Amino acid sequence: MRRRVTFSRNLTLSLSRTCRCYCKYCAFATHAAHLHAPDEVLEILDGAARRQVKELLVLTGERPEVNPEVRERLIGYGHEDFTAYVVWVCERALERGLLPHTNLGVLSREDLARLREVTASQGLMLESVSERLMETVHAGSPTKHPARRLETIRAAGELRIPFTSGILVGIGESEQERIESLEAIAAVHAEHGHIQEVILQNFVPHQRYYGREPAEIADAAARDYWRTGVADGRPRLPLPEWASPVSIEDMKRLVAETRRLLPDVGIQIPPNLADWWGELVAAGATDLGGLSANGDHISPEHPFPSPHQVRKELQRDGYALTERLCVYPAYIDPEWVSRGVMDTIKANYWSFIPRSGSGRTDPPAPIRPDLVAGAVRRGRDGLALTPEELTAMFAETRPEAIEDMREAADELRAELVGEQVTFVVNRNINISNVCTVGCAFCGFGQGKRSPDAYEHGESDFVARIDDAVDYGATELCIQSGIHPDWGLEDYLGWLRLAKATAPQLHLHAYSAMEIAHMCDISGLPPAEVFAQLKDAGLGSTPGTAAEVLHDGVRERISPNKLPVARWVQIIRASHEAGLRSTATVMFGHIEEPWELAEHMRVVRELQVQTGGITEFVPLSFIPFQTLLGRTHGVEEISRDENLKHTAVFRLALGRTITSLQASWVKMGIDAATESLRWGVNDLGGTLMEESISRLAGSYHGTRLDPDQLVAAAHAAGRPAAERTTLYEIRRRYGLPVAA
Ligand code: SF4
Repeated sequence: MRRRVTFSRNLTLSLSRTCRCYCKYCAFATHAAHLHAPDEVLEILDGAARRQVKELLVLTGERPEVNPEVRERLIGYGHEDFTAYVVWVCERALERGLLPHTNLGVLSREDLARLREVTASQGLMLESVSERLMETVHAGSPTKHPARRLETIRAAGELRIPFTSGILVGIGESEQERIESLEAIAAVHAEHGHIQEVILQNFVPHQRYYGREPAEIADAAARDYWRTGVADGRPRLPLPEWASPVSIEDMKRLVAETRRLLPDVGIQIPPNLADWWGELVAAGATDLGGLSANGDHISPEHPFPSPHQVRKELQRDGYALTERLCVYPAYIDPEWVSRGVMDTIKANYWSFIPRSGSGRTDPPAPIRPDLVAGAVRRGRDGLALTPEELTAMFAETRPEAIEDMREAADELRAELVGEQVTFVVNRNINISNVCTVGCAFCGFGQGKRSPDAYEHGESDFVARIDDAVDYGATELCIQSGIHPDWGLEDYLGWLRLAKATAPQLHLHAYSAMEIAHMCDISGLPPAEVFAQLKDAGLGSTPGTAAEVLHDGVRERISPNKLPVARWVQIIRASHEAGLRSTATVMFGHIEEPWELAEHMRVVRELQVQTGGITEFVPLSFIPFQTLLGRTHGVEEISRDENLKHTAVFRLALGRTITSLQASWVKMGIDAATESLRWGVNDLGGTLMEESISRLAGSYHGTRLDPDQLVAAAHAAGRPAAERTTLYEIRRRYGLPVAA
């Protein structure tokens, strides 16, 4: 499983640094009057909106109104107290599509409840359960007493507030006290389930900023670091006598303990306070907190690395840096988030709302679970299903109904194609990933000047074909990005070269998007383009670039890609040219059940008209290194949801397309083997090379040998057979006698 490491794209607003506490390690707080005026706040919020951050982190001293001047100013601004002012700030932030996360220190239940209406999440570090520290670093700070802090953390649970807490490491506490602090947080979480993440923050010594504005120092340090990639402004100050040294091993143990005590909670480590964050990610830390565009106001000279810097570093170790909202996905729900905040999330960040049966947006018509039982029966008989029936099945969450769908799909498969599981020995060749289209779900396409762009030369191409022939392949599957410099002649040339190199190989080449591009650049109609491609050796058409055949979805995930009608026109032209094609769906991203129902209607209707589609290939979305996954919070579809969709695809196709393929490179061979019980009869190809899923972050490998595919079929208790692209059987692999 490719591991994601999350972060929040935020901007910090230190609304007031005036604080009633006197913590020895704090360089943020002041006891003088400090309060941003409303016009300053609006300017900062507008700046945040322009920097496209999603979270506004409101970080303040505790009860600043203990300072008479601050109190006077608050009244002058029309606010009875500081919390009222923070509520006003959060409302202005929500108006700008920013999601507020507040950390105001110890708060009363009433104040937490007031803030709940206008925040997506709140937070309070427990710091430590050590009462000993009340004599040292926390002297003069009564609300640093663990009991006071746990009281606030517990009240937040009772109020169902998504909450962030954590411990400060290295302020004189013992190893045992660190564990006890985590245990205390775990105990409150066990009561209310509201802790979304635990921060393990190592203490770093700070200088004093008397008369200077930490926010300005932080902003300057961040801008410099994000621009140059060099953070040499970080002071290496000696540890004060009350501090306790912290080692990487200490931190790794804390990550492990947090994972043990709070298995379902995010483990956040700040990547700016020590260079060991990569090791802590490897040790199990899951989150890097807010990579604040205007720096760390608590540790101003320690700027956060930019998301780009972090992504590059994590990618080297095989992790995918992924943006999250300040409220974790599990809490993006009316039970945990107020109506007003939920509306802001739906309006601006709906793709972050976790997939649930009924989808993220409001359905055009009520989803009808009552239709499912009848639809399963009718689907089992191969009858055409209505959009309402298909929508209800794609949205289904009841296990018993899903099992009925599985059974019906499995029975229909057995009736249509028997027990045999087929596969093709083929080779993928993606000649170039240079692409002008820029689909949000794609990790493969790159701009021409991108350092990750590539283009094979003719000798590379020929070497790959020779490799395929030696391997026993019967098919070459050739697809590339939409290259700005390629003309129709280039596409014809690759086919001719392939045929000249290995005339026996079947050329399954060029997606509907590439064909549409050839038509656009040549000015020729599809029929003429296919005629020329056939002359050059084209054998069949991959039904890719279908994504979801619903223009509303296409607008959202690939606005520059061909619309549904053009896709249908191209595939129909392929069939009319005497070619066969496949048909695909790329699902498990932002599409809704009713949009998938429409996709299946389009595919089924085309097949009824032309009969040219050989197989249907569901391709589950790989999010990790794609825009949708990285910055829109779209998670990989779960195995169960993937299998459920597979069964519905089988029932939706009925008797129109008899072969349903599982994509092992997307779902893994284990899930692909299981899908043989969910209506699947084909395991696709050996591929030998695969870039499109791999560059999106898939982690299931790029090649499976025939014996591995045969073994998968046998593991499912089914005989296997090698087929050609057009489903002629070349060789059978019966079940071993023992079985
Ligand atoms: S999916 Fe295809 S068309 Fe879209 S960006 Fe990727 S390579 Fe280009």
